[in-house]
Amino acid sequence: MKEVSLMKFINLDRAVSAFDSRREWHTLQSVPRPSDVVLRAAAAFGAAASFLEPLDALAGSAHFYRRSGLVFERGGRWELPRYQFFGPRGGGDAMRIGIFATIHGDEPESGMGLVHFLEGLVRQPELARGFIIEAYPLCNPTGYFDATRQARGGKDLNREFWRDSAEPEVRLLEEELLRHRFDGIISLHCDDTSEGVYGFLSGRNSGAVLSGHLLEPALRAAEAFLPRNVAAQIDGFAACGGVLRNCYEGVLRAPDHDGPPPFEITFETPQRAPVDRQIEAFNSALISILAEYRQLLAHAPNL
Ligand SMILES: [Zn+2]
Repeated sequence: MKEVSLMKFINLDRAVSAFDSRREWHTLQSVPRPSDVVLRAAAAFGAAASFLEPLDALAGSAHFYRRSGLVFERGGRWELPRYQFFGPRGGGDAMRIGIFATIHGDEPESGMGLVHFLEGLVRQPELARGFIIEAYPLCNPTGYFDATRQARGGKDLNREFWRDSAEPEVRLLEEELLRHRFDGIISLHCDDTSEGVYGFLSGRNSGAVLSGHLLEPALRAAEAFLPRNVAAQIDGFAACGGVLRNCYEGVLRAPDHDGPPPFEITFETPQRAPVDRQIEAFNSALISILAEYRQLLAHAPNL
């Protein structure tokens, strides 16, 4: 089992390295040139990225489904893939969580972390007891295939939410956010200027207390794999123990609506760290958030 998962990381590593030669940590000599990867991607045009293949192999297992992708036009037909995991029934209403990754196209490690997390849930569905998880591991497919932060329209998608954006990816994701009315929203990112993990409380404040209760244990869980960024300033924002209480305008977040606000967390890994460590950090943070949220609800069911 151990060997299998190590092999998988090597393959992931190779895939990422191929997209970004800036990174110093890749050591494999037989990295395919980006053009080869892009050609292969083009051959599978409209299909999922290669790092999603393990998920597609699992789709249709008990609890786990690949939903039809969100389709948009951007000089051709593109698909924003989405997956669903139904945890075993819990005591009360199901808790709906949306998890979003690779909204910056050059941060595929975030999508790989989400893939690894979902694979783990298929093996151990108990981890998601009481949850319905909507997973979007590749929110910016054109940016991913171009290895750019921005989408092909030239925009940073994570500054466009709830601002009447014309970007098709943003409009599709806004529809998902409106439709699902998530109890929790988690965005996964990588930061190539950070030496450690950190997170934003990315909601519109009212959910910040709850989000803070979930983010701290998530950072602690991730520290088993990567250090925490404890700088007083991160990404231009005041930070305390790796927690940022302010974030950019236009980030992916819940719409304004009645009812209790969801928790909203943006979790960041240091992108220059080894990919397998980032993947494990994302995974352990996500597992921690589910466990802590379930426990909080058990003690305060009207949160
Ligand atoms: Zn990012």
